Amino acid sequence: MAARLLDLNRRTAVAAAATALIVSLVGQPIAHGVVANRSAAPSTYRSALSRPHHDSVYPGKGSTSVDALQYSLDLTWDDFDRELTGDASILFRAAKDESRLTLDLGTALHVSSVTLDNLAVPTKHPGNKLVIETGDLAESSKHYLDVSYHGVPRAARAPTRRSDVPAAGFTTRRSDQVWALQEPYGAFTWYPVNDQPADKAYYDITFHTRKDWRGMTGGKLVSDKVVGEQRVTRFRQDAPAASYLVALGIGPYREHSDVGPHGLPITYWVRHSDRKFLPQLRRTPHMLRWLEKRLGPYPFASAGVIVEPMASAEETQTMVTMGTSVLRQPYGRQDLLHEFAHSWYGDTVTPQDWRDLWLNESFATYIQLRWEVAHYGGSMRHVRHFLARYDQRLRNEYGPPGDYHANDFAELNVYYCGARMLDRLHQKIGNRAMWRLLRRWPQRHHYATVTRAEWIRFVNHQTGHDYSHFIRHWLMAKRSPK
Ligand SMILES: [Zn+2]
Repeated sequence: MAARLLDLNRRTAVAAAATALIVSLVGQPIAHGVVANRSAAPSTYRSALSRPHHDSVYPGKGSTSVDALQYSLDLTWDDFDRELTGDASILFRAAKDESRLTLDLGTALHVSSVTLDNLAVPTKHPGNKLVIETGDLAESSKHYLDVSYHGVPRAARAPTRRSDVPAAGFTTRRSDQVWALQEPYGAFTWYPVNDQPADKAYYDITFHTRKDWRGMTGGKLVSDKVVGEQRVTRFRQDAPAASYLVALGIGPYREHSDVGPHGLPITYWVRHSDRKFLPQLRRTPHMLRWLEKRLGPYPFASAGVIVEPMASAEETQTMVTMGTSVLRQPYGRQDLLHEFAHSWYGDTVTPQDWRDLWLNESFATYIQLRWEVAHYGGSMRHVRHFLARYDQRLRNEYGPPGDYHANDFAELNVYYCGARMLDRLHQKIGNRAMWRLLRRWPQRHHYATVTRAEWIRFVNHQTGHDYSHFIRHWLMAKRSPK
């Protein structure tokens, strides 16, 4: 997730000039059955097959009965009345034999109709849950659920004390522009969703806005046109995404193009008033080349950055979300590198359970530290000293990195303590073996969700040594490992 100012001593040992060291949080083809006239969809959904489960940190979010394969959303934002009108068409697989499905959907949104395979079905909307009486569904059968809704979206409380993340989900500012930071959850504030990292799906989103604005998300821009008094933009993700990685921005954005390694199309969506940040954003091709050299090919078909008027940043898939407050800081560039590192660690391979947030943040932080040493001088010896100095304090304050407090989501323990573990592993197995590990893990788990046990098995298999105790100890110890 997004960037946060350290309340620790933020001077990194990496370089004198130094820029403060910051951490960013900052198949089988599916028969479409009886439903016709659906939006264009990938011909196969094998990559979107998921293992939905009860999240151990946030069990109130998500559903074990739905494996969403594609969300097709048609959204109209009325910035005068601040009202969102949505039609969601969700292609899903029944994850088990079921007669009732549950999705996450904010209470501020009023549901006007729900159909399952074109037939109206009874629903209830208690709390932030949409409960759908489906009749008997067999495990692994595929269906379309269509939900029409409207309302004035309300952001949710984010489970963190971080001052840069005041809310989760759909957020409006005084100008009525819209954005969303939705890690660990928050997509439910603007569409019906299985809002957990374990369930990845494809996305096809159409926005209707006033004609001088644009609705934005990740993926490929399929169309962008003015129809009467409205602008209609449509984006399609070419790879499945977890709901927390879906970007959202609605406002007066302008398009700036760039080209990355191997001709990778890159787009920066920036308001005219924020164009001063473009030179920073144009470092993206260099960053991606540096990352590719170490982590293997960039895992998606496009990349980009959307600059939003907020205080944090997030690795939203194929379209990194950067807050203006972050870009204004001297460490904005490192933060951008951190978010792009998440393309490999977080986006293509994603933790199945929020308990393993360290699988994202420790790796992105470790890679960021290597970048800082390579670009700003200093040495890993200094970084080691810095990490060791704060490890105990972070474990005391927020818990060990593999068992953080639920109301301290994305605090510095999952960044620094886990990065320190990776550095120690690096020292044990050597440079070649470490970069081989870092490169192979996302390649082996392309578009997948993974568990802690799978990471441990992978390390043991790749190195030929049993590091199970070492890894578990570093993740779970209340006392700082020596
Ligand atoms: Zn991060």
